Amino acid sequence: TGQLIFVGTGIQLAGQIGKLSESYIQRADVVFSLVPDGFAQRWLHTLNNDVRSLQPYYAQNGETKNRRDTYQQMVDVIITEVNANKKVVCALYGHPGVFSCISHMAIEQARLEGFTAKMLPGVSAEACLWADLGIDPGRCGHQSYEATQFMLYLHQPDTSAHLVLWQIALAGEYTLTQFGTTKAKIQLLVDHLSQWYSLEHKVAIYEAANLAVHAPRIEWVKLADLVHVALTTISTLLIPPSKALSLNYDMLAKLAITETDLG
Ligand code: SAM
Repeated sequence: TGQLIFVGTGIQLAGQIGKLSESYIQRADVVFSLVPDGFAQRWLHTLNNDVRSLQPYYAQNGETKNRRDTYQQMVDVIITEVNANKKVVCALYGHPGVFSCISHMAIEQARLEGFTAKMLPGVSAEACLWADLGIDPGRCGHQSYEATQFMLYLHQPDTSAHLVLWQIALAGEYTLTQFGTTKAKIQLLVDHLSQWYSLEHKVAIYEAANLAVHAPRIEWVKLADLVHVALTTISTLLIPPSKALSLNYDMLAKLAITETDLG
């Protein structure tokens, strides 16, 4: 009977995938893939003879296509193979369920139809970010949002924690048809962020390396200068805290401790 497993291949070619995920890929009847480049795609072909890239479902040259349609078509083609009683593995770069909807949609659909479906975690871009920037997000906490969602909804950043904005190159691109945004929209995001952060506050554009021989891109700029930096589909924005943690004195009182007890 058919089954569906999503695995993450990590960000860096071949080295950041778990043993279990790799063995699922090897034993699959069919593997669907979404990976960063031809190197990663070719590596998947060395593990399994039937690897099918999902990339062609994105709008091709000159085509205008809503990404919602793309995702639905990807889910449909995956579910078709599960229905044909195949052992289907979907190998997605990074963590397959982090800022990635097709895994959640397909797993839900497969389970609704009575099939076994599960997800194995992978090394996400954010996991690489903490490692490359030498930050422990647990020190003061962190918030993570998709950049456009951060603009469209009333999210309240906690300026004593790290703020991570994913898909920064698409900030304000609400039509789901473009693969980039405009300087004017980035300026709107900067203006929006200036409600909480000084325009002088240093933020980082981060791009983890896909190959071990490459270095990550870590570019620190003033928030005001975000409109001038090159943003790509793999750019993530990190905004470090702008103020120290504030103590909750009510809670200290309830716990019957004082500031000095905290060391
Ligand atoms: N599932 C992926 C993961 O676990 O990393 C994330 C997919 S999300 C649709 C795409 C966004 O992830 C990009 O716009 C960027 O914010 C981030 N991203 C992907 N690759 C990256 C890289 N090499 N370095 C930094 N961020 C990256």
